[in-house]
Amino acid sequence: MQLFLFHIFSNFSPKDLKNLNSLLSSFRWGCVLPKKSTISIIKCDVGSLAGHHIVPKPLFDIAEKKLERAVKKGIINNYFVFNAGDDLELLMAHEKGEQNKEIHKLAWETFKECAQKASQLKLYAAGQDLLKTAFSGNVRGMGPGVAEMEIEERGSDPIVVFAADKTSAGSFNYPLFRIFADPMNTAGLVIDPNMICGFKFEVIDTKENKAIVLKCPEEMYELLALIGTVGRYAISRVWRASDDLICAASSVSKLSLIAGKYVGKDDPVMIARAQHGLPAVGEVLAPFMHSYFVQGWMRGSHWGPMMPVGLKASKCTIFDGPPRIVAIGFQIANGKISSADEGNPIIADLFDDPAFAVARREAMQNACMLRNMGEFEPARLSAEEMEYTTIQKVLEKLGKRFKPIKQ
Ligand SMILES: [Mg+2]
Repeated sequence: MQLFLFHIFSNFSPKDLKNLNSLLSSFRWGCVLPKKSTISIIKCDVGSLAGHHIVPKPLFDIAEKKLERAVKKGIINNYFVFNAGDDLELLMAHEKGEQNKEIHKLAWETFKECAQKASQLKLYAAGQDLLKTAFSGNVRGMGPGVAEMEIEERGSDPIVVFAADKTSAGSFNYPLFRIFADPMNTAGLVIDPNMICGFKFEVIDTKENKAIVLKCPEEMYELLALIGTVGRYAISRVWRASDDLICAASSVSKLSLIAGKYVGKDDPVMIARAQHGLPAVGEVLAPFMHSYFVQGWMRGSHWGPMMPVGLKASKCTIFDGPPRIVAIGFQIANGKISSADEGNPIIADLFDDPAFAVARREAMQNACMLRNMGEFEPARLSAEEMEYTTIQKVLEKLGKRFKPIKQ
């Protein structure tokens, strides 16, 4: 045994040996655990064309070039660049684990370079989400949104990545609840013996910066009591209760809480695993058969209907919206997004389907109803939710003009 361990330790560099805990965690029963793969989706609004509409081609070109170079250097295995409205989305497959400094630095430098180009082109809100100047090892808390998941690949591992624009961190609470806790949405919760044990949800209190884990179905009502308040609580992770298999991860950054003022919407991203003891891809997509209301839209100050769209329609127009969401499906194989023979990742544009036409029609009908109300609640967010918006400056100006009412 001693000889065996000596042989293994002698193959590690001094840097590896520094972190003994991490090293020991990679051994069990004297064997090296199977290799793990990591999916990272990191997004940022670095500037957009014609207001807050869309990411223009020159920024895509920079992102593609930077990530291609990173593949050649062996930092990532492969990638897919896309946009959710004005947000540039970097989907990367690698084997470096979550919150890896090299991966986050790659994303940060890509966004910085894109923001420089956006400035040269005088694109709108160039570098809007880059809230800090110097990279400190992790993009969390610096403006960009991040969802990451390190997995032990199953025999076949279907993944769905969602990216939304003109909305806030809690906008995935509703679909995540439907997917992993609602048997009226997910038949597998009733039919599949591997799912009947339920799922665990990590909920972040974005105001207090605290987290709690609740298990469904036992704590379903308590979970709903929290996550119904979408402006404050956001589901960050979901695990299968029987074996703690990671099933979903989403970004929960509140830009207004980082910056202390309104600087743009959070525009969250989410990764969900599907099939074989988890909800089927069809069950993961089923909550989007109908539209639902989210916070965001114009100036991040209004309720708006979520509209599921294909990548071609991933652009925001009317009243800077309506809030849109795209979904891309892929398989993960040996640390990479499964690719065609020429090397391009094979991607399914899941909302590019007439099956979501009803949701899109509902979204527009509800958008018309809300916009008819103009600046009256509930079309506009409540006073508490408007705390970080520019309306505070308007109200401050009026403050001195208020006089006590004589009895
Ligand atoms: Mg955006």
